[in-house]
Amino acid sequence: MIQFAQRMEHLRPSEIREMLKVTEDEAIISLAGGNPAPELFPVSAMAATTQAVLEEAGGQALQYSTTEGFAPLRAQIAERMNRKFKTAFAARNILITNGSQQGLDLSGKVFLNEGDAVLCEKPMYLAAINAFRVFRPRFVEVPTDSEGMITAELERLLATTDRLKLVYVVPDFQNPTGISWSAERRRQFMDAVSRYDIAVIEDNPYGELRYEGELLPSLKSMDRKGQVICFGTFSKTFCPGLRVGWVAAEESILEKYILVKQSADLHTSSLSQRTISKFLDSYDFDANVEIIKATYKKRRDIMLRCMAKEFPAEIRYTQPHGGLFIWVELPSCLNARDILTVCLEHQVAFVPGGAFFPNGGMENTMRLNFSNMTEERIAEGIRRLGKVLRQMLNP
Ligand code: PMP
Repeated sequence: MIQFAQRMEHLRPSEIREMLKVTEDEAIISLAGGNPAPELFPVSAMAATTQAVLEEAGGQALQYSTTEGFAPLRAQIAERMNRKFKTAFAARNILITNGSQQGLDLSGKVFLNEGDAVLCEKPMYLAAINAFRVFRPRFVEVPTDSEGMITAELERLLATTDRLKLVYVVPDFQNPTGISWSAERRRQFMDAVSRYDIAVIEDNPYGELRYEGELLPSLKSMDRKGQVICFGTFSKTFCPGLRVGWVAAEESILEKYILVKQSADLHTSSLSQRTISKFLDSYDFDANVEIIKATYKKRRDIMLRCMAKEFPAEIRYTQPHGGLFIWVELPSCLNARDILTVCLEHQVAFVPGGAFFPNGGMENTMRLNFSNMTEERIAEGIRRLGKVLRQMLNP
């Protein structure tokens, strides 16, 4: 018998990845996943950009390159972050990663010994649970409401959790809830964590996808100690297949990330990095983001309108101002995994919310995605889901 490492005993396949296998069937209306709309990817502009990169850079575009990343792209990202999120990064503060998902894995390597505590939102991003779980930490979940982490609970858990090494949060249009933290909660959070020598990851793939309301201050813009590490990505504002994201942090922290990335994969694709950099130079990136926002806003609106019409009144859900997701809380007598089984018979899928709680529970929740289906399919999907929910509540 081949022997595997002990850590493998604790790893389970991601529920979403498993589900996506079922939803590859075109007949199924998938409100599961979190894929961007592929029809919005600028395919012909990317064909021209890739050709230009290869012509101009020649073999360099296909050569090994530095672990830190393509220098012009690091500068473009720093400038963009400073402009969008009022940070004060220079190119030397940016490490290009293979999607921000790699940032999560690298964070585990940099910060977590077995048994250390990770403080997180309740619920939290599923693939972060799985990335950290490899390092066998304890997850300490901070209860949240419609404004973000509940400050009194955060303060209590900060004070009472031993071996706390890392705080992981998604304050802008969180995955899975779609919630954006209020300005007040952001300030209270920074006040609380700044009393401790702990690293805070501000993961922000959705911050630019705001459909209404005003921009709220990033945690990093309030970080006086240099303890906040920002994760960013081109996956949702551009396209995910190039796998380009970044970690932005004080140099003393970034050094550690560079060290572990070096042995993980040497560097992120030279061609992907150069192509994105060239695209940023040659096209109006922000105009493309505006097109994405307009499309997703319409899809969100349709989904919320249909939910108001089709869902039984006792079902509660979030009304996100941005991002890709709506979070649904069912009466506690219902189990979302059972509902999914019935829904799949009606060819509609979602993600049962229990998967987003690292310590289990909350099986009466679900996550709905509105970025990846047409308005017609969203309306039909919610009609089918509403019908199943009405039947489950009044059998
Ligand atoms: N963090 C969060 C909160 C996400 O929702 C996602 C994508 N679903 C990621 C990180 C990873 O994105 P990527 O690796 O494509 O940058």
